[in-house]
Amino acid sequence: MVKQLHIILTYNCSLRCHHCYVYSDQRATGNISLGQISTYLNEGRKVPDLQWIFFGGGEPFTRYPLLLKAIQKARKLNYYVGVETNGYFARTKSSGIQFLRPLANLGVKEIRISNDFFHYKKVENSPAKHALEAAQELGMSSTLVRTSFPGNNNYSDLPTISRAKVIDQEVMYIGRAAETQPLGHPLMDWKIFSECPREDLYSVERLFIDAYGYVQTCPGIAIGNAYQTPLNEIITNFDIHNHPILGPLLENGPSGLITDTTDNHEGQYIDACHCCYSIRHQIIDDYSEWLGPRHVYGY
Ligand code: SF4
Repeated sequence: MVKQLHIILTYNCSLRCHHCYVYSDQRATGNISLGQISTYLNEGRKVPDLQWIFFGGGEPFTRYPLLLKAIQKARKLNYYVGVETNGYFARTKSSGIQFLRPLANLGVKEIRISNDFFHYKKVENSPAKHALEAAQELGMSSTLVRTSFPGNNNYSDLPTISRAKVIDQEVMYIGRAAETQPLGHPLMDWKIFSECPREDLYSVERLFIDAYGYVQTCPGIAIGNAYQTPLNEIITNFDIHNHPILGPLLENGPSGLITDTTDNHEGQYIDACHCCYSIRHQIIDDYSEWLGPRHVYGY
């Protein structure tokens, strides 16, 4: 029942956030081509419930001409299109309008813009805030995305924008975020992490795909590679019970992954995702077909 495909246009980003789960920054490689995007979009049309394409990154506006062409192609194939950004291009509301107007004209259905203390020190006057205001002025359906530390809910300090929807989420301790965990955060024994808290692993509705062809359920967990197998076949043939990473995660969560794949049954973690990611990082060489791209693991 895959309904959304998130196409990672690039791992490159204008910022270098501590909480980033794909190690994005200005030096990150991994740029997708328009040809690859076309292939993924055409294949996606064979997936019955797939209606939404999101373009993200990294920061997709660092590849602005490609982003516009990709949106055009997706719209021609009658997908709903969403774009995720940190809004860095909007130094003012009017520059935001300049960048966003072409997206509005192409019929982008949703723009998600991150504005929180991980992205900007001055959230009340940040490029993301200007971008949100620009999107509103253009009549685009816009969503403010705000991330905070688990258990340290400071959403109330973060500005909202009238008429924008809001997604409040907690940091996922995977990728770079796993290295930059807050000091003094209590750690818990691995045995208690017996289920995946965020994803419906059995009925995946959203997939990510990148320049390297990795088709991922959760960042860094691949169900196939679109360079080797067409996207539609990967989705159709996916059987979670035969997947060496997702199978144990479905049965017994990150603790199941530990018992099924390692002899080292020790360790303490902040939460289930921190546990899951840390184990995946340890076993990546043994399961390289299923654990990728390496960007998510800091290589
Ligand atoms: S990191 Fe692991 S435990 Fe967390 S959402 Fe992803 S699959 Fe689930």
